[in-house]
Amino acid sequence: MAGYVVYDDLKQMVLESGRPYDMEMLDKAYQLAERAHSGQFRRSGEPYICHPLHVAMLLVDLGMDTESLAAALMHDVVEDTSVTLNELESQFGADVAHMVDGVTKLTKIQFSSVEEQQAENLRKMLMAMSQDVRVMIIKLCDRLHNMRTGDAWPEQKRRDKALETMEVYAPIAHRLGISNIKEELEDRSLRYLDPVGYENIKELLAENGGREFVTHIAEVIRERLAENGMPEAIMKSRVKSVYGIYRKMFMQNRDFEEIYDVYAVRIILDTVAECYNALGVIHDMYHPLPNRFKDYISTPKPNGYQSLHTTVIGHEGIPFEVQIRTREMDQMAEYGVAAHWKYKAGIQSGGSDRLEERLAWVRQLLESQRENEDAGSLLQDIKGDLLPEEVFAFTPKGDVINLPAGATAIDFAYAIHSAVGNRMIGAKVNSRIVPIDHKVVTGEIIEIITGPADKGPSRDWLKIVTTSEARNKIRNWFKKERREENIQEGRAALEREMRRNLITVPDDKWDEFMAEIARRQRLNSADEMYAALGYGGLQISRLMGKIKDEYGKLKAGDEKANLLADIPLKKYKGSDGVVVEGIDNCPVKFAKCCSPLPGDEIVGFITRGFGVSIHKKDCQNAQASMNDPENRGRWVRAYWEDTKQENYKATLELTAMDRNGLVGDVAMALADLRVPVYAMSARAVDNGRASMSLTIGIASTEHLNSVLAKLRRVKDVVSVMRV
Ligand code: MN
Repeated sequence: MAGYVVYDDLKQMVLESGRPYDMEMLDKAYQLAERAHSGQFRRSGEPYICHPLHVAMLLVDLGMDTESLAAALMHDVVEDTSVTLNELESQFGADVAHMVDGVTKLTKIQFSSVEEQQAENLRKMLMAMSQDVRVMIIKLCDRLHNMRTGDAWPEQKRRDKALETMEVYAPIAHRLGISNIKEELEDRSLRYLDPVGYENIKELLAENGGREFVTHIAEVIRERLAENGMPEAIMKSRVKSVYGIYRKMFMQNRDFEEIYDVYAVRIILDTVAECYNALGVIHDMYHPLPNRFKDYISTPKPNGYQSLHTTVIGHEGIPFEVQIRTREMDQMAEYGVAAHWKYKAGIQSGGSDRLEERLAWVRQLLESQRENEDAGSLLQDIKGDLLPEEVFAFTPKGDVINLPAGATAIDFAYAIHSAVGNRMIGAKVNSRIVPIDHKVVTGEIIEIITGPADKGPSRDWLKIVTTSEARNKIRNWFKKERREENIQEGRAALEREMRRNLITVPDDKWDEFMAEIARRQRLNSADEMYAALGYGGLQISRLMGKIKDEYGKLKAGDEKANLLADIPLKKYKGSDGVVVEGIDNCPVKFAKCCSPLPGDEIVGFITRGFGVSIHKKDCQNAQASMNDPENRGRWVRAYWEDTKQENYKATLELTAMDRNGLVGDVAMALADLRVPVYAMSARAVDNGRASMSLTIGIASTEHLNSVLAKLRRVKDVVSVMRV
């Protein structure tokens, strides 16, 4: 009898683990798997069921729960037999069914050649696809057992599997902190990838005792520490993995004898004082190598790592490393200080590597599962999305594109190349046409359909894309390709925003005004500023402060010159007995600080969303605010509706095309409005024009504006301004 593994072996292990497993479920899972695989054999000749049994046994070692073991027993049944997922779900529940499905999916992905820059993406994608981290742990054990029995594979398959294991699965095991699996995966891969190098190191290790050597040393040290009052010392020992030695020998070009940490003994104690005592004991027992002692307790490494390191020569002439630290330091070294407290405190720091944090958490759970025998199935807590904020999709060529969750097909196109994005006219997912705002789902194969080279993106895409990469590339295209259009778009958007803010710059002042804003923005011209607004490189909001500031100056200047020509031509109705210049029927409220009464001189402040707040003109708050460049532009003139100042005189300068009857028409217009005329003179200027100076009596600014409007409607009048 070849001594194939049987279900009783697994049962024995489960019982010995002392953890409360659901034996009924395991029995049922085994029976289903046994039946499904009956008559199937592995390449090595053993019955197929041996493979899932071995995988389940590896999981017991890792402290995994009942569901994981059940899923492991059945991990190949859906792929290889007629059993369906629905059957599994009805018999074992959704958890087990999902895990089996997850492992099956991971198994389907084949990576024949793994390029270095793709490897990290692949690892992340596998993590994301495994969803429930238990799936990945089952997959790692599956791969480990397959590698253990890989001698039965043909040569090419050995190499392919070894490469994939080395590049993808071993690093995942490393990140999950399952170091024994990681090392065995690496060593077994190396054995297929460089059999000569592997055997070479194996021989070197065997020559000086290997595992036995370091176990013996650890025992000798433990006894000596006990004699010296440290009977509680915990000893750990390890032999560097073959691949670890291989890397130092072949990648750092060192001789085997130059690698001092092939063997290492770790001593874990209760206090720092004991650590230094133990160091003394060690240096008394063995000859320390010069320059190899490091005190990371008094001077921790930048990442917070603390430990005493020394390298000594054993009595056999073989060097080994000794690490001495407290229990606390050991914990911190295992999980990392940051990961530890970050998770505990529930802090999610935006910039840091969230994946690292979460994996640290998984590591901790795995560890506590192993230590705490009756912890039940803590692992159930870590179900669910491991990486909800990232998605991974393939190009038709098989490159993996990594995007933040919520990214669209357009983001995908720009992630491939800006030229692909700029020419994009559509997208296909798994060969079916999808809208361009399709949200990318992990595992999809996305083909971007492109049009002619000069096609260019659409401005609307800026509202669809979610990655800054795509946004920047789209803006860059507009910046380069569409300057005229950008200028128009930018200027129009700016005008809209200014209207919304009740800022009206007269046409004849516009260019100068905008040139000044551009200068303050450190741009060369107003056009450059409009263009930047147009392609989105500059936000209007960043300009508004400056615009309001300049507008305030403009209006202050106007007031000095008594210029009010910038006010729109219409009749303003007041509300609450107040007329606010430039705004019709606007809601007003009276400021509490100065409580203006009819008859007081008043001013208005345009609030954000609460209408106009009316202050006395000499109100301290109003005065202070008007002097503040930020607010100046939001102050407007206001007056009581029934205030009449009949004798207020204003002088107007009127320019018109010279013609007969002009003066008469102007006088007629003024008479219509019953405006008293105190003085009037007219003269011809060049280019066939006439200039007219009028001094009239007006009641209010509102009144003046209607006068100006009326005069502007007189035939051949070119402009009317108050001077
Ligand atoms: Mn398998």
